[in-house]
Amino acid sequence: MIRLTSHNTKFMGADSPLEQADWVLVGMPYDGTCSYRPGTRFAPNAIREASWGLENYSPFLDLDLEQVAYCDAGDVELPFGNRDEVLGRIKIAAQDVLSQSKHWAGLGGEHLVTYPVIEAYLEAYPDLAVVHFDAHADLREDYLGEPLSHATVMRRIVDIIGPERLLQVGIRSGPKAEFDWMRQHRTLMTSQEEFQQRLSAWKDRPVFVTVDLDVLDPSIFPGTGTPEPGGLSFIELQQWFALLKGVNIVGFDAVELSPPYDASGVSNIVAAKAVREILLLAAYPHMQRADSQGHLTQAVL
Ligand code: MN
Ligand code: MN
Repeated sequence: MIRLTSHNTKFMGADSPLEQADWVLVGMPYDGTCSYRPGTRFAPNAIREASWGLENYSPFLDLDLEQVAYCDAGDVELPFGNRDEVLGRIKIAAQDVLSQSKHWAGLGGEHLVTYPVIEAYLEAYPDLAVVHFDAHADLREDYLGEPLSHATVMRRIVDIIGPERLLQVGIRSGPKAEFDWMRQHRTLMTSQEEFQQRLSAWKDRPVFVTVDLDVLDPSIFPGTGTPEPGGLSFIELQQWFALLKGVNIVGFDAVELSPPYDASGVSNIVAAKAVREILLLAAYPHMQRADSQGHLTQAVL
């Protein structure tokens, strides 16, 4: 078990004991490969603090976190400056969560932190597919010669899952070669109808959802290292998210919040609310199963 630092401030009502939790929130405060402006290392705690202003109930989804057994395990302790050791520790932490038949709810950190988590997930779910929300394609072969960077993370993930198991939403920035690749492999969703169709073709396949929060427009989410104008409004993000209702989400993360760039603190709240929504959607199939059996208990959840 990799060492975790736990904080007094936890995400919302994340007070289930670890043993009883189905979902485990884990912070990964790493920003070592950021290509422009660092600061995402401060995101996990900023999300936790901002979450206290949120309700458990989502009117948009008609789902309530009261029905979800989740805990906040704190942050993975990371040795800044040693990227490979950072990635190794995150992978061990994810393996540990999965070995207990629990689900990973990751709080980045920069987007590279998703890669070791997907590596761990493939050991537990060999047919894993990935849904990727982002302004950026993150499909570069390397960034300034580095194969492991937040600008290459989806390329590294495609290397191990293949392009047919990737769907991308919101991408609006990248070199032409990345857009040519997305068109060739049909990974970039151009409409919600297409997204719905492609998701339904996956049926019960286990899905990991990685949300780079810069998919949102900088006008509502300026707190990020590489803001990209022309992004989604929050309600649009919720509409895309809602199409995941019923999908077999087995893990997720939210990355690239960089609190120092938004003095108002609103970006932290936006990030916390996005985490609440995706956590509700991820837990939803379990809630439903409990309902149909007529007993909704913590043990079942
Ligand atoms: Mn991005
Ligand atoms: Mn990204």
